[in-house]
Amino acid sequence: MNKPDRKDMQKKITKIGVLCSGGDSPGMNACIRAVVRTGIYHGMKVYGIMRGYSGMVEDDIFEMESRSVANIIQRGGTILKTARCSEFFTHEGRKKAYDNLKKRGIEGLVIIGGDGSFRGAQTFSNEFDIPCIGLPGTIDKDIAGTDFTIGFDTAVNTAVEAIDKIRDTADAHDRMFIIEVMGRDAGYIALHSGIATGAENILIPERKTIINDIIESLQEKERRKKLVNLIIVAEGEEFGGANELSKFIKNKLPTLEVRVCILGHIQRGGSPTCMDRLIASRMGYHAVECLMEGKHNVFVGIVNNKMNYTPLNEAVKKKQRISEEWMKIVKILAT
Ligand code: ADP
Repeated sequence: MNKPDRKDMQKKITKIGVLCSGGDSPGMNACIRAVVRTGIYHGMKVYGIMRGYSGMVEDDIFEMESRSVANIIQRGGTILKTARCSEFFTHEGRKKAYDNLKKRGIEGLVIIGGDGSFRGAQTFSNEFDIPCIGLPGTIDKDIAGTDFTIGFDTAVNTAVEAIDKIRDTADAHDRMFIIEVMGRDAGYIALHSGIATGAENILIPERKTIINDIIESLQEKERRKKLVNLIIVAEGEEFGGANELSKFIKNKLPTLEVRVCILGHIQRGGSPTCMDRLIASRMGYHAVECLMEGKHNVFVGIVNNKMNYTPLNEAVKKKQRISEEWMKIVKILAT
């Protein structure tokens, strides 16, 4: 008799849970839809867990059907809601969560979130042997191991749309604007939206802000009567964000009309772009496939258009390597 291969010997997973954790990002709903429908396609029961790990600890878990995820692919936010959960940092909290999964027979989890949520999943899985698959849902695109994260494309397009509008009014009044976009640790939204809107300057956390250079370039532009300048600042930029920068510039160049606009949470909301819907669907599908193949504790990424699986404990915040080429292009094109 032929020996059963490893795949046949693996216990078939029949019940899985899906949750969103940490900061929300557009496309999470498309991802939930993909997980639910792929799971059901493979004959699984799929459970939705509300408000991230909080729903696991507080037993807010319900069975989902194919129609539970109808008409959500185009919606921002997340139907499962998302949260940060302090109880999950404790062993007692995680034990409660485990008991709630166990009583329903849930044998695998799909976690849509950022690197913090992945760390939580890894800790949980080490203690309780529930395989966890992560899906990178974050607008910041700051996780190593994937070229894309769910929500980034939408967030950056929202920023571009807003900045284009600001340029119209800046141009009408010959004013300078400092526009702050999201990105506490990562400057991707600032860099991409700044390049796409022809910003005169882009300040990001990964680069030192040389304030004297900015003042000098503004003085030089003032001499040339180029008064419309857009400076895009990531919120985590070292000088302290748009307000601090504006105060400094007004002090040094009192004749310059400077306005500040902080885009804020509009960047997290809205209908996901086609790109985000596609990657969310593809990653959600592969998360379920991973559980079926017996993959444990990895997160699903896409690198060079191929699926890429990184151990959850290696999920680290990506440090942006700014290409000198981009910075040079910004400088040359925004004269
Ligand atoms: P993000 O996933 O967006 O990076 P957070 O860092 O806030 O968000 O993490 C989301 C949640 O993941 C936390 O509120 C907590 O419940 C859980 N978590 C994060 N790190 C750990 C950890 N080391 N141990 C247990 N749970 C964790």
